[in-house]
Amino acid sequence: MKKRVSLLPAIAALLMASIAGADTATLILTNASLIDGNGGPILSDATIEVSRHKISNVYVGSFDTSVDAGTQVIDLNGAFLMPGLWNNHSHLADLLPDPKNTLENESSIDATIRAGRNAMDALRTGFTSLRVVGESEYIDVAWRNAFDAGVFVGPQIYASGPPIAAVGGHGTEMNGPHVEEASTVEEIRAAVLEHVGNGVDLVKIMVDELSTEQIEAAIKTAHANNIKIVGHAAEPGASIAVSLGIDGIEHGYGLTDETIRLMVAKNTFYDPTVVCNLSAEYIRDRERHVDLAGYQSTDSARAGRVLVAYADERTPEFAERQRKILSKAIDAGVQIISGSDSNPIDEIGILEIEQLVHSGATEMEALQAATRNSAAMMGVLDRVGTIEVGKTADMIVLQKSPLQNISNLRSVSAVIRNGHAVQLITNEGRADFWSLYFLDEQTGSD
Ligand SMILES: [Zn+2]
Repeated sequence: MKKRVSLLPAIAALLMASIAGADTATLILTNASLIDGNGGPILSDATIEVSRHKISNVYVGSFDTSVDAGTQVIDLNGAFLMPGLWNNHSHLADLLPDPKNTLENESSIDATIRAGRNAMDALRTGFTSLRVVGESEYIDVAWRNAFDAGVFVGPQIYASGPPIAAVGGHGTEMNGPHVEEASTVEEIRAAVLEHVGNGVDLVKIMVDELSTEQIEAAIKTAHANNIKIVGHAAEPGASIAVSLGIDGIEHGYGLTDETIRLMVAKNTFYDPTVVCNLSAEYIRDRERHVDLAGYQSTDSARAGRVLVAYADERTPEFAERQRKILSKAIDAGVQIISGSDSNPIDEIGILEIEQLVHSGATEMEALQAATRNSAAMMGVLDRVGTIEVGKTADMIVLQKSPLQNISNLRSVSAVIRNGHAVQLITNEGRADFWSLYFLDEQTGSD
């Protein structure tokens, strides 16, 4: 938390003061270095107008200073403005590792509270949208509804409820999100319909445990009900699911060249969850990168993210294989999206985007994975994902260019969610997520 305070310049305070509670006001951000999310070069001296919750004007060139009363103009002084980030493989309440055995000793109410805290922390780091791919008891739907209604200020949640798995399959033996088990085609169909009835935006199936008929039934039922469907998948299940028209592949362990070609042809999105595929060497390498970028992490963030990385440590061969698969997928033109799997999303979600670059993506490809491609995957690119007229004003302001160094995503000085500036400074006395769930008190930063 200390890090954020020190990076917070006056513009966040200005933004806060200018648009707090003023739904009808127009906000004009001038002198922005605009990364609009469409992949083009940075547009310097850009002006972005926000009216109510939407981006109402975007132009480049000198700004006419005569404005209506009630319009607030803020000079960004060349700071970088880009679309708000997405984390596409979120489990709001999960803990991996779980050194304090929290998961087995808590009620779902406790888990729900942690889930909301995680989501709200993520928003302050710049994640204006979270796609959730597996949550017990529709905790994600509850938080989505609470954020949508304005009960709390949070990111836009795309909820999936419990993952759908085979009886006794992945997740049924773990302490993570409870899964819904289905053993027949009929039960799969019923499970998807139950999710639809509970208001999900997408479903996630555990592809590798299901029969081809079950995968097909799940995809058809989801699409017939206008929701997206993604699959936790390794080969050969991934290939089957892609050929049957699944919208996205999560993890994609061992994806073959043939499946990668098929994903391009079928416009299947790929969420490589790089943080789940790191060898010890990659973990050390990653820490060096963050150090080199010059961002001072708190002791607890540093200790915590290393702890999280080692919980999923892979052999060098496994890590190398997945890294090659990601490079091949990028080169082939598969649409990559960014999703961290592990928590807390504020730190691990940023690491995931950094990791895309350390695995061969360009900075622009990584930024688009976390913005435009994510919105396209969920079918909401007409509403969010880029900075264009008519879209929801979900944007972040960075002091340094993320195209120069992806770790400059850590230089966030303002987050605008739905046209409102988010309060970045947290209340004094609040425990950090790491000390709450991961670290002994001695290791914590305060
Ligand atoms: Zn997961």
